[in-house]
Amino acid sequence: MAEAFEKLRGLCSTIYDLVGANEVLSWDEQTYMPPGGGEGRARQHATLERLSHELFVSDELGQALEAAEAEAAGLDPDSDEAGILRRLRRDFTKKRRVPAEWVEEFAQAQSLAFQVWRQAKIDSDFKAFQPELERILALRRSYAEFHAPKGSLYDALLDDYEPGMKATDLRAVFDELRPRQVELVRSISESKAAVDESILLRPFDIKKQWDFGLEVIEHLGYDFRRGRQDEAPHPFTITLHLDDVRITNWSKAEAFGSILFASMHEAGHAMYEQGISPAMRGFPTLSGAALDPSHSVSLGIHESQSRMMENLVGRSRAFWKGYFPRLQAIFPSELEGVDLEAFYRSINRVKPTLIRVEADEATYNLHIMLRFEIELGLVEGSLAVADLPEIWREKTQDYLGLTPPDDRSGVLQDIHWSDGYIGYFPTYTLGNLIAAQLWEKIRQDLPDLDRQIEQAQFSDLLAWLREKVHRHGAKYEPMELLHRITGEGLSAKPYLQYLTEKYSEIYELG
Ligand code: ZN
Repeated sequence: MAEAFEKLRGLCSTIYDLVGANEVLSWDEQTYMPPGGGEGRARQHATLERLSHELFVSDELGQALEAAEAEAAGLDPDSDEAGILRRLRRDFTKKRRVPAEWVEEFAQAQSLAFQVWRQAKIDSDFKAFQPELERILALRRSYAEFHAPKGSLYDALLDDYEPGMKATDLRAVFDELRPRQVELVRSISESKAAVDESILLRPFDIKKQWDFGLEVIEHLGYDFRRGRQDEAPHPFTITLHLDDVRITNWSKAEAFGSILFASMHEAGHAMYEQGISPAMRGFPTLSGAALDPSHSVSLGIHESQSRMMENLVGRSRAFWKGYFPRLQAIFPSELEGVDLEAFYRSINRVKPTLIRVEADEATYNLHIMLRFEIELGLVEGSLAVADLPEIWREKTQDYLGLTPPDDRSGVLQDIHWSDGYIGYFPTYTLGNLIAAQLWEKIRQDLPDLDRQIEQAQFSDLLAWLREKVHRHGAKYEPMELLHRITGEGLSAKPYLQYLTEKYSEIYELG
């Protein structure tokens, strides 16, 4: 028996339980906690975070890790144990570089910036938020300097979310993507094809939409014995531990789609977590700068799983060949006179919008590229915070052909920067690209896939994802995992091909 490894597991388990308990508090905070509970809850979070941080960076854990590594010398590098040790070493080294004073200062700056941002967004007043963002940026830059990256400072921030990825990798792939994607959106906007979205804007009963979403994700393979869906202001997935992976959904709109597609999106994230090998249980990992019970490989790979379910499955013709009759039975009067083809086109309508979270499949990445370019400029020092509203307006005009009338629908729209998440946005686009790369491989391995989807049969798809992606958890770095599965590195080609084929047909492009 691997004695040193088991000792390490014991130490890690205590941290894992603290981190998981902290997640239970987060879940409760965003679902059922009464409004007056906020202050006490913030204190509980701070206590648990401090305790888990101290235990994680302790000399005791460092020694246990070293002993386990010595014991594991000669172990198969593809084994779960070797993978766990690699990841722990990486996270331990990273977390030890960050002084406790920085952690505390950043936590305070974050909570203040978030509050100021919330009000500034309501008032559409960037000037009010500017000093807070400057402070967050300065702190993120000093965080990056602790890790002394060889290339861009941005690399150190990106590495928290996408281990091993560099700004130059992103630049290369975005440079390939940008002109093709702008061109596609332009051709779509000039198309004469009739794509009618009004079908979806009729009032659809919210409870029935909610139940239909549950039915679909159960078919997809989301395990309700180890998960549940509750209502929250924004959809998210949260891992309390690997056998309790919850999702939330909103119930704000009667228009059809946002509830179902949010369910499918979050179920994609959650099925990934539910499929991580039990061997990884009890080991916390760094996700962002915080400890997490998830043990997933990266945000980009995570997002590939959610976008696959939401878009490649949920917005496909095959899926609706199977489910449209069922939807018609649930909503007979709402869908009266609507055929499958009109419905399929309406859920795939392309229309540039100022707001990222409302963006469709064809324009979404343009929102991300704009943010990435701005973040990179801020971190590398070529852009000043004060100039952001103007730069935002220019880039939105260039990429989307729209001009934000105010900061609320421009530079102030997203929560991320106020929360200190700089270097995070690109993982959304990585998710789209990786999903398409995986999908290409899945189609080769499962030639019968379309017919299975038409029959609401998802077990082969889930088994493939379990075997190739989910079970490995954080064993490999994201690009290594992608390479092992597809034989290639990150590429925009499968995504561009998918997008071009799909929309050329819907919009009858030449
Ligand atoms: Zn997501």
